[in-house]
Amino acid sequence: MTTPSPAAPAPVLVLVPGATGAPTDGGAPFHLADATVPQLSITDLVATRGDGVFETIGAFDGVPVNVGPHLARLARSAAQIELPAPDQTVLAEAVDAAITAHPPVAELSVRVMLTRGIEGTGIPTCWIHARVSDDWTPYRAGMRVAVLDRGLSTTVTETSPWLLPGAKTLSYAVNMAAVREAKRRGAADVLFRASDGYVLEGPTSTVLVRRGDEFLTTPVSAGVLPGTSVKSLFTWLEQEGMTVRDELMTVADVTGSDGAWLLSSTRLAAPITHLDQVELPVDPELTARFEAVLKGKA
Ligand code: PLP
Repeated sequence: MTTPSPAAPAPVLVLVPGATGAPTDGGAPFHLADATVPQLSITDLVATRGDGVFETIGAFDGVPVNVGPHLARLARSAAQIELPAPDQTVLAEAVDAAITAHPPVAELSVRVMLTRGIEGTGIPTCWIHARVSDDWTPYRAGMRVAVLDRGLSTTVTETSPWLLPGAKTLSYAVNMAAVREAKRRGAADVLFRASDGYVLEGPTSTVLVRRGDEFLTTPVSAGVLPGTSVKSLFTWLEQEGMTVRDELMTVADVTGSDGAWLLSSTRLAAPITHLDQVELPVDPELTARFEAVLKGKA
């Protein structure tokens, strides 16, 4: 992963007790706090058990993209771990407040965090952290991707929902370990493959595959996160007269395609140049159009 330059402005922290029924500071549902000092209790269940959910929203030239869909997905993830849905109106206002409090930058990464809270209290902890996005330029030009087994079948949603398929939880250590394994293999990122052979998603991204005028992604029913980026692109592609579809695909389907990308809200559309050792076609013009759509500027 890349890091912002040392000259980047300091991150902004907004504590949002009013989204979860926690005691508020003088009645305000959220307030700015100092991001440079410790704020989280060591007994918060996210620290001791990784028990929480989150969202990462991209903001481009100060304008956040897909806030409603991200907050709806946060509520979906919360429901999967049996946390009460946070107040989406309060959260949306707090996202705006975090962006306003940050010095203007081209690309901001806004994390919305919701945890099970301090052990024994039963009150979730919620905060928003906005920081300059990593420099994703090299990834947007194209990247090598390694196929790694996820060890779960595409039937996991039906057979083992307690494994939380498709939830954006704060237990991402496995996802990060997979990226490190990809780097050991000379790749920049990962495409997970299910035990029944179908491709799933990346550790932090959704796969998009082109076959002529058709664009395909993995069905959410296979246990992947419902991506906000792929949804935006599907809407735009349909307007452009293309066909979009959810379909289970094998690795051979991807390597035999007319192009593939890993999509996410802050890195945007990263074309896959090689899947393991197989080279894929890359279309910089189409990728640039995807980027504009995902920045909310199409
Ligand atoms: N899949 C996983 C596992 C993710 O963590 C992410 C985003 O971080 C995505 C897919 C892409 O989601 P979105 O396009 O909403 O950013």
